Amino acid sequence: MKETVVVKVGTHILGRSNGRLNYNRISDLVEQIIKLRKTHRIVLVSSGAIMAGKEFCEFSHEKDPLKKRQMLAAVGQGRLFQVYSDFFREYGVITAQALITFDDFRQKESYDNIKNALEGILDNNIMPIINENDVVSFSESTFGDNDQLASLTASMLSADLMILLSDIVGFYTADPKKDPNAKLIKTVEQISSDLLSLCEDSLSDGGTGGMLSKLRAADLASQHGIPTIVCSGKEKDSIIKAVGGQTSGTYFKPSRKKSQLSIRGKWMMTAANIKGTITIDSGAESALDNKKSLLAVGVISVKGNFAKRDVVLIKNSENSSIGAGLANFPAEEIRKYIKAKEKPKGVIVIHKNHLYTL
Ligand code: GLU
Repeated sequence: MKETVVVKVGTHILGRSNGRLNYNRISDLVEQIIKLRKTHRIVLVSSGAIMAGKEFCEFSHEKDPLKKRQMLAAVGQGRLFQVYSDFFREYGVITAQALITFDDFRQKESYDNIKNALEGILDNNIMPIINENDVVSFSESTFGDNDQLASLTASMLSADLMILLSDIVGFYTADPKKDPNAKLIKTVEQISSDLLSLCEDSLSDGGTGGMLSKLRAADLASQHGIPTIVCSGKEKDSIIKAVGGQTSGTYFKPSRKKSQLSIRGKWMMTAANIKGTITIDSGAESALDNKKSLLAVGVISVKGNFAKRDVVLIKNSENSSIGAGLANFPAEEIRKYIKAKEKPKGVIVIHKNHLYTL
């Protein structure tokens, strides 16, 4: 079976400084994908609809930024897809468009539908091109720059690699635009919570949000055993080099072997409406490894105000997400169990039938 690679291309890669689509770049990206398709299953997640829309109209009179974004995307998505399709057709490759919202991932039925459709498209050797459905997305639940869309897709398809093509060379020790001593990190061994908060802090200092969103996407992929490469989409043969292990960008190592999680478990951990987090001790972690239920005695802390049957994330004492499940009690009740002087015996917080671990 060919390995699956999810390639995300950001708007900055597809545009020229005058804000118009860069047809040479798109043609070059398509050429690389064509070469790689001989040995890999490639899924393209591409932004650029809003930019493509601006080739036709600006809607400068429109005051509502969300409405403007929706209108530009509605105008531009067709054009963007047409440009890709025309380039792929030169090589005899048929393209398929999938426009997805965050809420589509949240609903288990639509999650399954997206997975089925994409797998069918790949099995039939058609080239899938995905973007957010910007017309439907509400501002608060938007993917924004598609990094998260790429990582959810990668985990859904159990991809072998995720490549985030950006206008920066990779992940630096500091913002290279501000700090001349900033160094490129070639390999990130582990996406620690320290690294994530460092990035969050740089954002609150006015730094770029782009790296944080890439780090979060790489973190999600890593939890599911998928490595991520962040590299410059402007560099020659960037995708080919990334797949061939010769990237000049940053390689994020996965934190575990590729996950064997069921599709329901994957959905719960990545896309479902997670209402809280339960952190457990090492004893409970080994019980979970042995497919047992999660008992109240093993719970260290509870975050969030979930109700019975809500989806909760399970973390170990090192703060790594290790699974998800349906809570058997509301958060308040579990907190009472934790505080109780006499630890309750045999109280099941998440039943093994509704529990999924990596
Ligand atoms: N879905 C948006 C588009 O296609 C993404 C915009 C962005 O990259 O921020 O234009």
